Amino acid sequence: MPTCPNCGFELVLLNRPKYKCSLCSKLYPQQQVESYNFRNWNKKQKENDLHNLKLEEKKMNKLIQENKTLKAFRFLFNERRIKQSIEKKLQRKQEYYFKNKQIINLKRDIRRQNNLEVYNKMRKNWRDKNLETMRIYGQIQHYRSRQKALALQYLKNNY
Ligand SMILES: [Zn+2]
Repeated sequence: MPTCPNCGFELVLLNRPKYKCSLCSKLYPQQQVESYNFRNWNKKQKENDLHNLKLEEKKMNKLIQENKTLKAFRFLFNERRIKQSIEKKLQRKQEYYFKNKQIINLKRDIRRQNNLEVYNKMRKNWRDKNLETMRIYGQIQHYRSRQKALALQYLKNNY
């Protein structure tokens, strides 16, 4: 229903192409009233759209925030599940090994026998690598004991 541009009261369409306000008794040409009301309606509609858009945006932001937390939770949960599955697999492997130890070892020995050259090379590599590590550890141990001896010497001389 169109309203009066003057007081906002609802207009009444007369038989003539005119609107009349029953509150302030003003008369308006039909076209003027309708275009005025259309503009008003359009403006209100736009404001409404903007308001809805803002609400939508707020909702979206909230959803995004919630989704982030959800994703984080999901990620954590997944990570834990992956860890658990790895542990389970290792456990199963271990159980399998203990159950079939003899066959596995026998198979391994046969494989070694058939690839002695490769196996010996691997073992040598491992030993060399370990020797290097052991040598470094030995050096560290040596320096530590020397430091301790020096400290004891210092204490003996000064107290
Ligand atoms: Zn009026």
